[in-house]
Order: sequence, then C-alpha cells, then structure tokens
Amino acid sequence: MKGSEISRWIQMTEVQIKRAISKVVTDRAKTGVCLHCESTAKKRGLCSKHYEQFRRAKAAIPRSEQADWEVEQIRDGKVLNGLQILEIRSTNVFSERSAS
Ligand SMILES: [Zn+2]
Repeated sequence: MKGSEISRWIQMTEVQIKRAISKVVTDRAKTGVCLHCESTAKKRGLCSKHYEQFRRAKAAIPRSEQADWEVEQIRDGKVLNGLQILEIRSTNVFSERSAS
C-alpha cells in the first residue's frame, strides 16, 4: 500500500468536498459502500438505487445547469466524480500495482 499517494489523494479530495463530510465520503468510497445507504456502490460512489435517483434528478434539470448542479452534488459529498472513483479503485488492495 502506497501511503503517501493515498494521503495525497485524500488532501486533493478535501479541496473538492466540504471538510465536515469528506472523511465519511472517502471512508465509504474506499470500502465500496454507497454514500447514502449500506448497499454496495456500483457507480459514482452510489448503489444502483441511489445512482438512478441521481441520474433522474440530473435529467430533470435544464441541460445548461446540469454541470453546475453536478459539481454542487460532488462538493456536498452526495456523489463522486469519475476521477475520484478511479483514484479510489487504485487504492484497493486487490488491484494494487507495484510501486514504480
Ligand atoms: Zn444507496
């Protein structure tokens, strides 16, 4: 496990997610649990049910406002962005790659 990379990632994440909720969000994301319930996270840190709710809520918003709305949800720790998911997966012990 590359501890320095993980802590660097957590620092980066804390810039994007409100401080008070960032620990909960990163802990949940790392363990693969949905941000809103105890189900397994499938996409963007959400289980199937909550991802569907996210997707439907986003679709109900005018297209020009969707990006801003999504950033707001990410800042509130309600959903992860795609990059965060990739970074979280890279810290999974089962997918750990040897240090270069
Ligand atoms: Zn859920």
